Amino acid sequence: ATEAPESKCDVLVVGAGPAGLMLATWMAHCGINARVVDKRSTKIYNGQADGLQMRSLEIFDSLGFADRAWKEANHMLEMCMWNPGEDGKIRRSDRVPDTPPNLCRFTQIVLHQGRIERFFLDNIKKYSKDTLHIDRAVLPESLDIDQKACADHSADIYPITVKLRHLTDEEATPAQSKGSTVNDGLFRSNLAGDDTDDLIQKSREKQGSTEIIKAKYVVGCDGAHSWTRRQLGFQLEGEPTDFIWGVLDIIPITDFPDIRMRCAVHSASNGSLMVIPRENKLVRLYIQLTEIKPDASGRADRSRITPETIISAAQKIIAPYSLSYHYCDWWTAYQIGQRVGTNFDSQNRVFLAGDAVHTHSPKAGQGMNVSMQDAYNLGWKLGLVVKGVAKPSILATYQDERRKIAQDLIDFDHKFSRLFSGRPAKDVLDETGVSMAAFKDAFVKGNMFASGLSVDYGASMLVAKDSNQDLATNTPIGMRFPSHKVLNQCSAQPYHFQERLKSDGCFRIVVFAGNVLSPAQSARLRAFCDKLSTSTFLAPHLHNNIAILTCHSAKRTDTDLLSDFPDVLHRFDEKTGWDYDAVYVDDVSYHEGYADAYKGYGVQKETGCVVITRPDQYVGYVGALDGEEGWEGVEAYFKGVFVTI
Ligand code: FAD
Repeated sequence: ATEAPESKCDVLVVGAGPAGLMLATWMAHCGINARVVDKRSTKIYNGQADGLQMRSLEIFDSLGFADRAWKEANHMLEMCMWNPGEDGKIRRSDRVPDTPPNLCRFTQIVLHQGRIERFFLDNIKKYSKDTLHIDRAVLPESLDIDQKACADHSADIYPITVKLRHLTDEEATPAQSKGSTVNDGLFRSNLAGDDTDDLIQKSREKQGSTEIIKAKYVVGCDGAHSWTRRQLGFQLEGEPTDFIWGVLDIIPITDFPDIRMRCAVHSASNGSLMVIPRENKLVRLYIQLTEIKPDASGRADRSRITPETIISAAQKIIAPYSLSYHYCDWWTAYQIGQRVGTNFDSQNRVFLAGDAVHTHSPKAGQGMNVSMQDAYNLGWKLGLVVKGVAKPSILATYQDERRKIAQDLIDFDHKFSRLFSGRPAKDVLDETGVSMAAFKDAFVKGNMFASGLSVDYGASMLVAKDSNQDLATNTPIGMRFPSHKVLNQCSAQPYHFQERLKSDGCFRIVVFAGNVLSPAQSARLRAFCDKLSTSTFLAPHLHNNIAILTCHSAKRTDTDLLSDFPDVLHRFDEKTGWDYDAVYVDDVSYHEGYADAYKGYGVQKETGCVVITRPDQYVGYVGALDGEEGWEGVEAYFKGVFVTI
């Protein structure tokens, strides 16, 4: 037999769902030599996840495609709760905002996963200059780690060897349910077994083609059945529940008045239903299938579930309103199980992200969001370590930061899905029923968690929790940099300040320069900038791995870019001149009012402060412009993260 061809790559990504595509996007933005493989022959075209939370949209914006999602998606603004009245008939009992107002410039939106994957693929193509492609119908069949080499992060060490198997298109196309003309997602559901081992075996028997990859890092983004996780011997801990749900994406024909609102409908005794209004007149229905129960093995028989059984369960819940459809776009069914991975990495060389390390019910619209956010946390760290810029020890912060989020997610889902799947209480004495007041309360409180904005990473080499929080009281260290409107100093154009924190792999020194017209403050700023531009430690990183953004609080029309701001804040380029996008002001705009950004960030207008943001927009450090923290604090932060070049 001919020898399998062998090649090298810095990062191998297994799986191109939302987590794998986010990782690939970072690889493209950071210019890393990566391979991405997926066992399926095509991307997703319809169905699957659809809810995009506020934090995910902020991330998409930093990558350059939030506008596409925002335009195409259905925007979810109100949530209506329907419960049985005393006569047992359902009626609307409450309306609440779907996402809490004033948290973010985005709200929750819904759009099917296929479109979201398309935006990722286009972005990867653009940023990698069409060099990074998803290798479809390709899957790993063995993974060997040279344990001794793992601690050596030198540029020429590739401790991981993966044998890849190339499938035929036929092998890589999952079978749909028998007799079904509509696409279903049952093959991806947890009601179905995994086909990875089968695919490998069949391809081996046919002597299909293989190749060997030597990699520095591997990231398993291969979903709930994760093959990568199995190779590492790690477990998902937790239990399946007895709750079985069906999902239908249909264009509904109904007299139910709130069909274009997100609704939670609890019927008196026929189970619950969730309505998610979607793009193109589609509506997603999540329907509890009370008549289908798991067998002794703990699994439900999926052959009994069809679109017809699902809609008939929905009709019982929503009665006396009518509900039917002519067009069904996609459907699936799943059994709720809440599990979290024991380990998120092995030796800081092989990582797991997304459903590979957490699974739960999809109704709170979390899985895809949290999966993408796992990869968003990891991607830049890998990028900077591969480039030899950051210390390899930053990789350990991935598990520290994300495992806690996964655990919080499971706790949240546990509460939420039990309240959602439970029967409504008839009265206060009905102890086995669910109180609808408790459901509403859980929904409202859960909203903050679900938005993704409450993530607060603990102290580490990347998060200097003990730096000076008092100088930016509303910019919490460990949380994402909040957004308030500021104006560009040179053009007077208003921007959300967070929009300027692009996902380009750079840390940012955000200089809140204060009142630059005060001679004392101007002297402080100049002294800080002198240190910044003359530091031998930072010199190789400045403007390459560290960008500088400034926001001052003096009057825009009394200040001038070239005379009031030291050059390092808006550096000069031989070919393109001064950087006009680096200095902003907290001032009144002509058309969009005054955001009072300094107040929003909790920063003193006169004296300002310095904030360091990580490449993923999380706040790593807050300190003064001068005094003991001053420049030394900033330099010490970077000495903890970057290697000396
Ligand atoms: P996956 O999406 O499972 O992707 C894994 C990828 O790896 C796949 O492309 C697969 O082909 C590939 N793969 C698997 N094994 C191998 C292998 N051995 N080798 C190579 N490739 C492999 N989440 C939300 O945030 N919002 C929602 O509204 C939402 N709704 C949902 C509705 C339904 C009905 C379901 C089922 C899920 C929903 N989710 C939702 C959850 C969401 O779909 C998942 O959490 C998300 O897709 C996880 O992303 P991932 O990239 O980790 O894994």
